[in-house]
Amino acid sequence: MATITKRDYYEVLEISKTASGEEIKKAYRKKAIQYHPDKNPGDKAAEEKFKEAAEAYEVLSNENKRSRYDQFGHAGVGGAAGGFDGGFSMEDIFARFGDLFSEGFGGSFTGGFSNFGGFSSGAGRRVNRGSDLRVKVKLTLKEIATGVEKKLKVKKYIACPYCKGSGAENEQAHSTCPTCKGRGHVTRVVNSIFGQMQTTTVCPDCQGEGKVITKKCPHCYGEGIVKDDDIITINIPAGVAEGMQLSIREKGNAARRGGINGDLLVVIEEEIHPELIRDQQDIIYNLLLTFPQAAMGSTVEVPTLDGKAKITVEPGTQPGKVLRLKNKGLPSVNRYGTGDLLINIAVYVPENLTKEQKEVLASLEKEPNFQPTNSVKEKIFSKFRSIFD
Ligand SMILES: [Zn+2]
Ligand SMILES: [Zn+2]
Repeated sequence: MATITKRDYYEVLEISKTASGEEIKKAYRKKAIQYHPDKNPGDKAAEEKFKEAAEAYEVLSNENKRSRYDQFGHAGVGGAAGGFDGGFSMEDIFARFGDLFSEGFGGSFTGGFSNFGGFSSGAGRRVNRGSDLRVKVKLTLKEIATGVEKKLKVKKYIACPYCKGSGAENEQAHSTCPTCKGRGHVTRVVNSIFGQMQTTTVCPDCQGEGKVITKKCPHCYGEGIVKDDDIITINIPAGVAEGMQLSIREKGNAARRGGINGDLLVVIEEEIHPELIRDQQDIIYNLLLTFPQAAMGSTVEVPTLDGKAKITVEPGTQPGKVLRLKNKGLPSVNRYGTGDLLINIAVYVPENLTKEQKEVLASLEKEPNFQPTNSVKEKIFSKFRSIFD
């Protein structure tokens, strides 16, 4: 178990060691309102502070516990004595102290539930949400270039077709929850040092639904969901890249006994192209010319994302030269511009030569125009150096 260093309770509430009961209550109320989940939706740090303040208040507001804390510190109120092993849950805090700080949050206590733990606002009713479903989709560069519609077969939880997700055998197989009388929440009166406090929590028997199932659906055993194959059509935008995740709202698993579906998360995988290499929005092709093609110039065909293109190689083209076909790369997924097709020139040197060929080449080797000039040397060198910049 992790050791958590607890802050001093007086420090947490920012009060002196001699603070009166009224001062403690006021200080706690201030903290609880400051870190209230309605004011800090989704903020984990605020939630921790909210819990920390409640714990400090729980101890310091009780004379017995406070005197033990003053003498022995956290050890005096921890474990069995204090019961803070796991800390307070948010629900505990609202149930115990909600009345102290619920004013200003819609007046009613149930308003305090609106932003955490999946409770909908108002009725204090829990909204179920299905889990997210993650699938991988493999795309070719060509598909990425244009965007593509894909039909995916996925196995997922869908609402039970027999009971339409209710979990009950039929319409009559429901009855009003006897615990909460259909209200979805229960109100309890708790005695505290401030006198009697009325607190409201989600009904433990119907989880806030207000009704209970008397006869479960035999197909889903009362769950309201069954596993089935589903075909989902998704439109993948142009320009996506390996590892990107598209989130398609509410196409994931259905929620238990009705509610909101989870999301479908589509993870993009890129199929390796046999000839083209992707560099963000640019596409790179390595063109291997023969020595005569490079020396005499030629017209050659190069592959592109959508077919082929003819390019002209000027006489005397050096290896390492890069030709650029504008806008023949990939579009940006954000629709800002399109990349280019970069053609990197390489020159093939014959690996085997006949006796006659050797004689021809030997006779040419000494020709002055077969010697690289300084300007060509510098050009090739600067190109080479730029690779390492
Ligand atoms: Zn069912
Ligand atoms: Zn109930």
